[in-house]
Amino acid sequence: MKKKKVYVAQEEDGEYCVAIVAYSSREAKKIAWHNETFEDSEYTDIRIKWKKGVDVSNLKIGVIEDYLLALKLGLYGYVECQTCPNCKTEDARVYYDNGKYNCSDCDGE
Ligand SMILES: [Zn+2]
Repeated sequence: MKKKKVYVAQEEDGEYCVAIVAYSSREAKKIAWHNETFEDSEYTDIRIKWKKGVDVSNLKIGVIEDYLLALKLGLYGYVECQTCPNCKTEDARVYYDNGKYNCSDCDGE
């Protein structure tokens, strides 16, 4: 059986990226193309990067909807508009450092 891999799709020089579980970069790109993040993008402008060494065997094929999980897996530098798991601030920009979630409201705690 083929192994699931995780990819990060981003438009060239784009602000947003999307973490996608797929069996191949081609499949990941197709999934990205149908995602609302890239609705204004040209297919050829979407870049797909394979993130090695991340175990996604338990995740289903498609965009990882659980952004905090994707953050924990190291697929994003931070995620916007999430409730901080640490201090419960809503609409926070959440980071994951040294095994802990944090945001600008609970930074340094
Ligand atoms: Zn916080």
